[in-house]
This record gives sequence, C-alpha cells and structure tokens, in this order.
Amino acid sequence: MIGEKMIDKIKKFLTDTLYLKDIKCIFCNCELDKPSKYCVCDNCLKSLPYITGKVCAKCGEPIKSMATHCMRCKNHVERGFDFARARFLYDDKISKAIKDFKYYGKKYLGEYLSAFLYDLYVLEKIDAAVIIPAPISANSLKARGFNQTEILCKCFADAGLNVNTKCVIKRLETQNQASLNYKDRQTNLAGAFKVVGKSAVKNKRCLIVDDIFTTGATASEIGAVLKKAGATKVSVLTLCHELPDNVKN
Ligand SMILES: [Zn+2]
Ligand SMILES: [Zn+2]
Repeated sequence: MIGEKMIDKIKKFLTDTLYLKDIKCIFCNCELDKPSKYCVCDNCLKSLPYITGKVCAKCGEPIKSMATHCMRCKNHVERGFDFARARFLYDDKISKAIKDFKYYGKKYLGEYLSAFLYDLYVLEKIDAAVIIPAPISANSLKARGFNQTEILCKCFADAGLNVNTKCVIKRLETQNQASLNYKDRQTNLAGAFKVVGKSAVKNKRCLIVDDIFTTGATASEIGAVLKKAGATKVSVLTLCHELPDNVKN
C-alpha cells in the first residue's frame, strides 16, 4: 500500500515537474479543487483587474470624467481601427501570466487566456467575419517558436470562427515597442505590416487579436493596412490595456 503522504509527494512531483495544465491556477499557482475553463482559482477569478467601468467609446481606455472619449482619441491621434476593447487592466498578475506565456515556455497558458478573450468577444457582441491574430516578424517567430496571438485565438477557432493567420504579415523587423517612448512607438511600426491576402479581408468586418494594448500603435498600423485593403470595419480585442503614465493613479 502506498501511504497518503507518498501519494501527495508523487502528486507534487508530477504537478511541479511534468504537466501543470488543469491542475494549478495560472495566476497564483495554487492547486485547483475543481475544473475551471480558465484554469484560475476562485480567489483570482474574483480579484482579477477586469475593466468594467466607463471606457473610451473608441479605444476602450478606462475614463473617469464625463467625456465619451479619452484624450488621445479626442485629439484625433492616428487610429487605424474603429473599436478596441480589453478584458483586463495591465497589472502585476496579468503581466506575469503574459510573460510566462510568451517568454518562459508556458505556451499552454495562452489557451486559457484565450477563453477570457473569447468571452469578451461575446460580451461586446463583436460580429467579425475574419479574426486576425496580430502577426509577429519572422525573426520573432523563429526565436519564440510560436506566435502568441495565434494561441490567443484558440477559443475563436474552437467556436468555429474564421481565424486567418496568413492574410497579414509583419514584414519588417522593428524595435520592441515596450522599449520605446510614446512618440517613437507611433513611428517605429510604419510600413511594418502588409496584407498579403486581400480577398480574405476585402468588404469584411475584421477583428485583430493581440495581448497588450498600450498606445494602440500596433492595432492602429494593422488596422490601417486592413482598411486600405478594403476591410469595412476593424475591431481590436486585447487581453489587457496598459494605461499611459499620465492616466495612472
Ligand atoms: Zn489563483
Ligand atoms: Zn480612446
């Protein structure tokens, strides 16, 4: 007979070293006592930084005033998209999950994060004919081994929606947006994206899926090339929205 302690030890060994999927909360790493479609414990599920209050009608940035638009959308900052929304505010918990997913080999996390994005798609009643994971460059793909935004589209594909990973490419290597200031972020991506499958987007409502919305520069550049190729509407869904420094509390 194997004692209970031994079973616990074996279980711990397995969960710690082999396959963490479906066993531990993707945010706090506690063991889950029941299955969850997000693989998140009840405590985290309650305390995640959901965006629930008033937001900019265009870009989805939380706003506290009576205004309908944030300062940047109000000032007509270049916006190649029509509508953007995010599930969460960018905080330490979300940041860690995204980093683990993108940079530390925990590719499976993306499948659960995808469930949050798909729920937002349903909640916002976005009816897109084409779902486009934001493309990454050939070098980034080679280095990482996968495009994180394609994995974030898993639940969209599972729901039978038209996910197109080929119609837009990132043809230029650019500096990492996170390393740049606001002004440089706007010019860094100029000409970086190209629509290579015009018939896939022409006269269609398109949805771009990405992980983080910061200044909106990436969404704007991709949105602009989609519009140029004939897309009728471009919506954007991201897992989180990072507030600009001047809006943070
Ligand atoms: Zn948790
Ligand atoms: Zn806005």
